[in-house]
Amino acid sequence: MELRIGNGYDVHALAEGLPMWLCGIRIESAKGFVAHSDGDVAIHALCDALLGALALGDIGRLFPDTDPTWKGVDSKILLERVVHLVHTGGWKISNVDITIALQRPKLASRILEMRQTLAPILGIGVEAVSVKATTTERLGFVGRGEGCEVWASTIIFK
Ligand code: MG
Repeated sequence: MELRIGNGYDVHALAEGLPMWLCGIRIESAKGFVAHSDGDVAIHALCDALLGALALGDIGRLFPDTDPTWKGVDSKILLERVVHLVHTGGWKISNVDITIALQRPKLASRILEMRQTLAPILGIGVEAVSVKATTTERLGFVGRGEGCEVWASTIIFK
């Protein structure tokens, strides 16, 4: 069996009155993400982890923000396309692990829904989709509520 590991990282700025999407679900929040797409920073990091495992560059190369096709796009569509690339290469996803750093709102009550949203897109069970959320104890740009940071890891195999 051949194994590959991938990791991804993304940051989006927060601004008043914009929608907040994380791991494919809408989060109630006074602030949302400044972005060309729907701003789902967690899915963007996950796409980069999968693309990293494939050594196929990054999400910005695949879906450039200069391309009007991707304006306001549901990031789940971007993830579907990346997963298609994984499967086209003959790979399967073993698991994914996502860490979201966000000062507020608290995400604990929405984590299961996030996992249940991502699992069918990834073609794996909910038990292989980990989503974790943390604050940064009010430190740094995340702590000041200026942005959100996400790290994602994956292992793929064939
Ligand atoms: Mg992004």
